[in-house]
Amino acid sequence: MIAEVVFNVPLDRSFHYLIPASLADQIEPGVRVIAPFGSRDQVGMVITRLSDSPIAKLKPIRQMIDASAVITGERWALARWITDYYCCSLGEALAAMVPSAIRVGPDAAATTPGRRDGKMASVVTAAPRPVLTPAQEQALGTIMNVCAADTFGEVLIHGVTGSGKTEVYLRVIEAALAAGRGALYLIPEIALTPQTVERLHQRFGERVVVWHSRLTATQRRSNWTRLACGDCQVVVGARSAVFAPVQRLGVIVVDEEQETSYKQEAVPHVHAREVARARARLAQAVLVLGSATPSIESYYQATQPGGRMVVLPERVQGRPLPRVELIDLRDDVHGRRRAGAVSVMLQRALEQTVARNEQAMLLLNRRGFARSAQCQLCGAVKRCAQCSVPLIYHAGAGQLICHYCNRQEQPPTVCDVCHKGYLKFRGSGTERIESELHRLFPTESIARMDRDTTKDRQSHHRLYQAVKNQQVRLLVGTQMIAKGFDFPQVTLVGVVSADTELNLPDFRAGERTFDLLTQMAGRAGRGDQPGRVLVQTYCPDHYAIQAARQQDYLQFYREEITMRRRLGLPPFLHLIELTVIGGSSERVGQAAGQLAERLRQHGKSARISLLGPAPHRIPRLRRAYRMCLMLKGRAVEPMVVVLRQVLQPGRKFAGLPVKVNVDPL
Ligand code: ADP
Ligand code: ZN
Repeated sequence: MIAEVVFNVPLDRSFHYLIPASLADQIEPGVRVIAPFGSRDQVGMVITRLSDSPIAKLKPIRQMIDASAVITGERWALARWITDYYCCSLGEALAAMVPSAIRVGPDAAATTPGRRDGKMASVVTAAPRPVLTPAQEQALGTIMNVCAADTFGEVLIHGVTGSGKTEVYLRVIEAALAAGRGALYLIPEIALTPQTVERLHQRFGERVVVWHSRLTATQRRSNWTRLACGDCQVVVGARSAVFAPVQRLGVIVVDEEQETSYKQEAVPHVHAREVARARARLAQAVLVLGSATPSIESYYQATQPGGRMVVLPERVQGRPLPRVELIDLRDDVHGRRRAGAVSVMLQRALEQTVARNEQAMLLLNRRGFARSAQCQLCGAVKRCAQCSVPLIYHAGAGQLICHYCNRQEQPPTVCDVCHKGYLKFRGSGTERIESELHRLFPTESIARMDRDTTKDRQSHHRLYQAVKNQQVRLLVGTQMIAKGFDFPQVTLVGVVSADTELNLPDFRAGERTFDLLTQMAGRAGRGDQPGRVLVQTYCPDHYAIQAARQQDYLQFYREEITMRRRLGLPPFLHLIELTVIGGSSERVGQAAGQLAERLRQHGKSARISLLGPAPHRIPRLRRAYRMCLMLKGRAVEPMVVVLRQVLQPGRKFAGLPVKVNVDPL
């Protein structure tokens, strides 16, 4: 017997191996094996069994990893869809779908999925379910109608923060369980939403499995097994949970669907929302997207013929949305004459909050102490030796750190270019804001939440609890603090700079800014006291900031969609970003030029246009040079067909690797 195996490599082909007699009855499609590949042994996945092969001398499979298939049901078709849409190999798609730490043991194999059909334990409803508001009832009604069709359907819930979206998701999941089907609940980042997980546990008890990257190998394996055998039917987790082996999937919820963390940095660069849609289609399930600030793509789609949207326009129990005020930093009083990054007006507001014994949160979406270290004499900025970016000074670590490759350097006492001047740390990061607050409020307890303070498993939870229990008066943080937190005693939210995102060279900069400001504003006034939001900016007239001030999504959407249509950007066209990577700037430039030429020739008939080549936003990363090309077309599939014709095996061109990012963010 012969096994056809694919590997986690960028090759669009499979390989044949002999199945040793000892494994003859056990090797089946969907089982991972270890087999000699190239010069070493590698993990691959069996996709079929064959009775013979045209290849004469086959090597044998060395070892089996899983005792039963880890890929089953609609997830096979899903792997093929990922391969076609994201221009990767089947082996890469399959590898992305199964966490490497999992080995499925014989215990999972013993129980067959579907065994429990019709015998599902009744839903745990120990926690009291609130009576739905009329708006929630209506939203649920619409979604249940879609579910009743028993085929693929999709609904977008557009609801302001605190409008009760989560409660609606819970009801939809409850209904799916009652109908004997499973549910997937995706959230942007598990650590940021401890309440959501808590609420799911309260509602569904033992039937819920939590899925995230910080689980131990044993926990993961046990979770996988409990899902695969049907003991658990609900999964809550971040991006990779979209691949969890939920049986008889009935509904997929994607909360905060606009979040960029749903896009995977590594190959195959999938977006969990798109994968969720494809999986829902294949499983005849219903996809529910939810957000206070939907992505432009999702909102556009929901408003097109055939699209479905429900709106929750108000906060539950009539709590008002907080008032948002802008602080114009161009103004002398607030801007130029201020001593630090916190303006006089924001400082006064903080003082009042402290005096009332309430809590405040300050957002600055940049970690570290300062943005750059610059020589006061010659002006030279300290840059990473491997990447073309300035190094960021971290006071806590006492180091200059590259935010791209994490390389660290001791700051020099004098400039290492002119050997005379001293370095000045310019601009602010969360560390500087924290120290400014300590100076302004020496007796208050102040905490900082960013990637530097939340490195270990428990730190997130500890900080969250400390704020919740009001042991922390003032919390400073990056966008981490903008998402999902529900602290009723927070009445003031300050945004130190609304412009950090706005001025990035990215057509989505406005969308990001609007999203971040709206989310951050949503953190204020969640309890009985009304909330106040102060936003410092140099661009108070920008439409994203104006719309955020009004907390008016439609106002923002109308401006943004007009711009997207005019410039031929998503959702009107799809983009594929190609990055040519190499050790020599000259070779990369040449290869990118040739690739552009080939793509222009091939793309003409398929009505694909091409931008570039142009240097990448970070032209040099970890010593490698990078040039970018952007393909634009009405649909992704024809562009991928052209790419497969033009690129060489191993996803290379002129011998250099080419990164293919479909629908880049
Ligand atoms: P969202 O997900 O839109 O931010 P949530 O579902 O978290 O909103 O609801 C916000 C708050 O209101 C939560 O504390 C939740 O428990 C409460 N809540 C939700 N629905 C109801 C309801 N129908 N009646 C009373 N309280 C509700
Ligand atoms: Zn670097």
